[in-house]
This record gives sequence, structure tokens and C-alpha cells, in this order.
Amino acid sequence: INQRGPERALLLQLTPYGFGQFLLVTRDVTQVEKLETTRKDFVANVSHELRTPLTVLLGFLETLRDMPADSLPMEQRVRYEQMMLEQAQHMQAIVSDLLTLSTLESSPTAENTAVPLNCVIEQALQRAKALSDGQHVFVTYIDDNLWVEGAETELASAIGNLLTNAIRYTPKDGTITTSWVLNEDGSATYSVQDTGIGIAPQDIPRLTERFYRADKGRSRATGGTGLGLAITRHVVARHQAELDIKSRYGAGSTFSIHFPKERVRFANT
Ligand code: ADP
Repeated sequence: INQRGPERALLLQLTPYGFGQFLLVTRDVTQVEKLETTRKDFVANVSHELRTPLTVLLGFLETLRDMPADSLPMEQRVRYEQMMLEQAQHMQAIVSDLLTLSTLESSPTAENTAVPLNCVIEQALQRAKALSDGQHVFVTYIDDNLWVEGAETELASAIGNLLTNAIRYTPKDGTITTSWVLNEDGSATYSVQDTGIGIAPQDIPRLTERFYRADKGRSRATGGTGLGLAITRHVVARHQAELDIKSRYGAGSTFSIHFPKERVRFANT
């Protein structure tokens, strides 16, 4: 017998128990059912996310196949090829982010070495500036002596994701402020503040879910995979840190990672 309410799912089993007696066993399968629903949603999401670029790619390939070779002007062919390349690269980015997520979920906690986070941030900033292509103003406050005990590649991807998002969701001439500072209580905070489009309050709690996008059309147009913040959340948790998101819709957002005191190291010690 299955009893399924809005909150809980119970499995009731009546088992013979000697001399005409029965034993009623009740199992709470709420968690099991929730996991199963999450898994099904995830498979549906992945299929959908991959199918969209695949359909576009197939469309171009079929057009090219069905056209006589000399009927397509060279510049149009180049444009088609560029679009096909972009769709294939997008699929590659989704698969690569999925693999990163699955490694983060299945492997034990992060390797621990003293990571010069100031250098990691500088490298991420260089890539971010190349992506911005002179369209944004960058302001930085970075404590060069502040290190973190953790896994460098993981931290680099979390830091890079927040910077890339700040650029993607901030229109031209906006300001992106990056800081890496020691707090009074000995903890340390990396934060990226932007003057971009901002996020509505009801979307904030869901941003780190896989494939969740606050503004669907706009977010897809930026070319992101929808997995960046899910990866960031995992990396942050593996370092016993906290991800804090503050935003004003239409005015900008601040994403911060707070590292506990126990994780903080100093360059000269
Ligand atoms: P995506 O690849 O779509 O950027 P993410 O997981 O990195 O995926 O982010 C999830 C969603 O959070 C984005 O689609 C976007 O709606 C929102 N978001 C993330 N960062 C920002 C930001 N700095 N400003 C506004 N919205 C943001």
C-alpha cells in the first residue's frame, strides 16, 4: 500500500507473522522519492539543454548537404560554419561542466594545499578582462598576503565563475569590483560586486540549482551552461565556506565566498 501525501510518502506492508497474525511495517520513503524525482528532472534537463544546440547544428548541416555546392556564397558558408562551431562548443561546455559536477559530487573532499588566492584571483581577472574586451570598469582590492588552505583548481573555477557571471550580466560601462580581504574575526572574504541587471528576490535561493536561470532568454543568450553556480556551490561547501548572494533587481549583485578562519593562511608564515 502506498500512501502519498503532499509532504510525505509512506510505504505500508502487511506481512504474515505466524498463527493468523500480521505485522504492519511502515517505511518512510519520502527521501527516496524526492531523490528519484530530482534524478528524473535532471535527466530531462540535460536532454533538453543538449537537444537545443543539437537541433540547430543539424539544421545547418542539412541545409549545407541539400544545397548545390556552388549555390552558396562564400561569406554565407563562413557564417554557417561559425554558427555550427558555436553550437558544438556550447555542447562541449555543457558536457565539461557536467563532468566537473559529477567529479565534485563523487570524490571525497578537496585536496588541501596552501593556495595563494591572490594569484588565482589575478589570473581569473586577466581572463575576465579579456572577456569584457574593454567594456567594463574593473576595481580591485586584493590582500597579497592572504592565502587559503584548499584545492587550487576548484577554487580557480569558483572564482572564475563569479567573475564571468558579473561580466555576462552587467551591461557596457558597468563596474565590477573584486575584493579579497581579511575580516576582523580572522575569516576571509572573496567578493565580486557588479552594477548589472540584478536578480529578483524570489530567484536568489534557486540560483545554485543546476540549469536554473533567472531570466531564461537573456541567460541563454550569454552562452552560459547554467551550471556555473551549481559548481561554485559544491566547491564552496567542500572548503567549509559559505556563498552569500545579495542583489537588487535592476541595480546589481554581490556574490561573496566567506572562508572560515581555519582555512585562512598567510604568505609570510
Ligand atoms: P549561467 O551559465 O546561465 O550564467 P550560472 O549557474 O552561472 O549559469 O548562473 C545561474 C543564473 O544566475 C544565471 O542564468 C543568471 O540568471 C543568474 N546570475 C548569475 N550571476 C549573476 C549576476 N552577477 N547578475 C545577475 N544574474 C546573475
